[in-house]
Amino acid sequence: MLPAFMDQVFYLLGEAVFVLGVVILIVSVVTAVMIGHSFKTGRIFMARPTLIFVILLESVIKYLFRVYKADESIVDLVGVRLRNYINSKKFLEIDPEDRSVFMPQCLRSVDCPAKLTPEGIMCVNCGRCGIGEAKLFCEERGYRFFVVPGSSFIKRMIKKYRPQAIVGVGCMMEIKEGIDLCHLYGIPAIGVPLTRSGCVSTTLDWDSFYEVVSDGDGHILLRDDPKDSIETLRPSTADR
Ligand code: SF4
Repeated sequence: MLPAFMDQVFYLLGEAVFVLGVVILIVSVVTAVMIGHSFKTGRIFMARPTLIFVILLESVIKYLFRVYKADESIVDLVGVRLRNYINSKKFLEIDPEDRSVFMPQCLRSVDCPAKLTPEGIMCVNCGRCGIGEAKLFCEERGYRFFVVPGSSFIKRMIKKYRPQAIVGVGCMMEIKEGIDLCHLYGIPAIGVPLTRSGCVSTTLDWDSFYEVVSDGDGHILLRDDPKDSIETLRPSTADR
């Protein structure tokens, strides 16, 4: 038999759990609304607190999206956009020569003739996919450019070359983990999500990629509306 005062303790505990649940629900609803608004308009409000709530309450927010029959991948997309926005100021301060680009191997053509080397998959710019021209474009600007053969490769190259800023292409999960990993190393990273994920024949919005790596202007990182594509920053067909 429990002492009488324990009833009071359990009552207070119950109340505290209830209040906490209500607070979590309210914060999740507000964050979900902000995410939806940010996705629609491209505008970002209170980036750091919003990102903290997205990270802490991700599963609740995604549940709310499912309840309202909205696409829950929007939560991940806006999460990446927030991370990019927060990192953009430091990223833009770094000279392209001190930056590295990591490109996933799944973007290659299935007929890619490139060989695996200790420095990653060595693209020979055969023209069968967009990686070759992207590599040329980036290397002309001073970037180190890698085609990543496996997950441990990025850590190895970070230790070897100590880039001060990173551009990473990948699926949403890889980008989130990659940016957070770079954060641990104190490296500002910008993620460009694949438009179709998978193990092979993935796709990328190359315009977004070229905007990020173009001369460090980084309009895509700072502008309010990501739909304002800056076509002129991408190399013209004649340049490729
Ligand atoms: S352009 Fe490079 S990465 Fe793409 S298929 Fe050719 S060699 Fe492979």
